[in-house]
Amino acid sequence: MATTANNQPAPAPAAQPDLSDLTDGMRMIVRALKDNGVDTIYGVVGIPVSGIAFWAQKEGIRYISFRHEQSAAYAAQISGFLTKKPGVLLTVSGPGFLNGMTGVANATVNCFPIIHLGGSSDRQLIDLHEGEYEGLDQMTAAIPYTKASLRIDTVQDIPLAIERAFRIASSGRPGGVYVDLTTVMLGQRITKEEAEPLFFAPNDPAPAQIPATESVDRLLAALAAAKHPLIILGKGAAYAQIDAEIKAFIEKTGIPFLPMSMAKGLLPDDHPQIAASARSYSLENADLYLFIGARINWMLGFGQGAHWNQKAVFAQIDIDPQEIGNTRKIDVPVVGDLASVFKVIDAELPKYTIKPADDWLASIQKASAVSNAKFEAKLAAPSSPLNYFTTLGVVKRLLEDYKDIILVNEGANTLDNTRDAIPRYYPRTRVDCGTWAIMGIGMGYSIGAAVSTGKQVLAIEGDSAFGFSGMEISTICRFKLPVTVVIFNNGGIYKGDTVNASGGTDPSPYTLDHDAKYSLLIEAFGGTGYEVDNAADFETALKEALASKKPSLINVKLDIHAGKESGHIGYLNPTPLPGIDY
Ligand code: ADP
Ligand code: MG
Repeated sequence: MATTANNQPAPAPAAQPDLSDLTDGMRMIVRALKDNGVDTIYGVVGIPVSGIAFWAQKEGIRYISFRHEQSAAYAAQISGFLTKKPGVLLTVSGPGFLNGMTGVANATVNCFPIIHLGGSSDRQLIDLHEGEYEGLDQMTAAIPYTKASLRIDTVQDIPLAIERAFRIASSGRPGGVYVDLTTVMLGQRITKEEAEPLFFAPNDPAPAQIPATESVDRLLAALAAAKHPLIILGKGAAYAQIDAEIKAFIEKTGIPFLPMSMAKGLLPDDHPQIAASARSYSLENADLYLFIGARINWMLGFGQGAHWNQKAVFAQIDIDPQEIGNTRKIDVPVVGDLASVFKVIDAELPKYTIKPADDWLASIQKASAVSNAKFEAKLAAPSSPLNYFTTLGVVKRLLEDYKDIILVNEGANTLDNTRDAIPRYYPRTRVDCGTWAIMGIGMGYSIGAAVSTGKQVLAIEGDSAFGFSGMEISTICRFKLPVTVVIFNNGGIYKGDTVNASGGTDPSPYTLDHDAKYSLLIEAFGGTGYEVDNAADFETALKEALASKKPSLINVKLDIHAGKESGHIGYLNPTPLPGIDY
């Protein structure tokens, strides 16, 4: 028997709880994620969230570790867009949270569902501004960039709060939800017996939003009255995953359609009713526009200006009633989720005869044929040094054998020209800078697309755009993802040939690294790199890279003069006084 110094018997030690009976905040977060169907977490860990990632892995959730939280956020949100299930992002406190929040803001702007779980430091110290480690009032900071910002202060709230986060992110118009996880809460312990009854299976987190039948009837009556109707498909239509229903409606009614960039492939780009190659003609001559999951924002000139027939009927289907009439008068609104809307359309359609004028589609097809022939000639023309179009001609030819590859695309001229040149044939096989025209999504979107769909990915990147997230090449290689990155390197933002107006030796504001050997970046991490500057070598490299289905990067050295300032959207710049040339 143990004795004390004065030979008295030692008091009996306090009974130690059996640790195996306990759970804690980190484990309960993982359990709640599993209950909500999460199979992957994207993030960068450290204090105080590492335990979540380690426990998640132990519990069979895939954890994809990034080099920067912004890219992890892009990966999570594109998985949300592609699968219709919110992607999950995990970050540390303070700077890690803020790095991720740029991505979350992008998700909210684009209507992609994402849940950002952020560890946060000691609240008492933060609230008194006492200089806490990575201290920041994250919950308040997240409010403007999310649909909701929540904080979990006690483990008993975890199941309810996580289910609520999923509900908010995925119901109605999808978007970002931030959930603040305090260090104290993550370390809290309760018995498994107390914890178990708190968990529950989610109950219809994204309920159907059924449109009023009268609103659908008004739409069908307007379509029946129109002679030159035109459908504009947005990425909300791609997100809704009712591909067959949308295609059947378009084919049954014979209405021509224009896909927004991320709706490309919802119907194949070689569909006889596509109006993409006669965009101006079809917009100018339409007498009814039907927007399906597409906002009438800057990307559509707010529905105003020369290309839009102001006498036409404007009809719009959207899940969000607040979107209707946002930038111009909408004559025929239909509010509901697209799956429900198309069920009602299907039921009501037999009452109407929708038949555009005979010459409408024919005239669009005629205009398309002329512009397609011109464009094909551009793609087929050789160039030395390489321009965008010769290079894209190679991509286009080779992708005929990879029709369902997911194409990730960012840049300025690289974005514009690739969107025009590379057809998509399957839904959700093109993701790009989107509504916010954001740069730096390329590697995160590639990783999220490859991980969440299991498909092969080709990223076509401007050299400037690639630079924002180039370090994630490490992540692509570490996870051995089937991603090929092609850099269209013209040596700068927009183009590489601008000069320093002072005549000094510093590079101009647009100048980047035309001579850089970007291929060495991927070789540093065990992937395969290629340096090319002509079409034949590019073709060989791309063919090999795609066939390998392994991490690969091709640096294509383009003409330093190729590209124009701001690509297609230079008109958005303020007009400078004469005196500088760029
Ligand atoms: P694009 O940029 O391709 O034109 P936007 O992002 O501007 O597309 O528009 C997408 C629209 O789709 C948003 O207004 C959003 O509210 C809507 N939306 C998203 N999901 C659904 C859905 N399931 N049903 C109907 N509308 C949806
Ligand atoms: Mg460039």
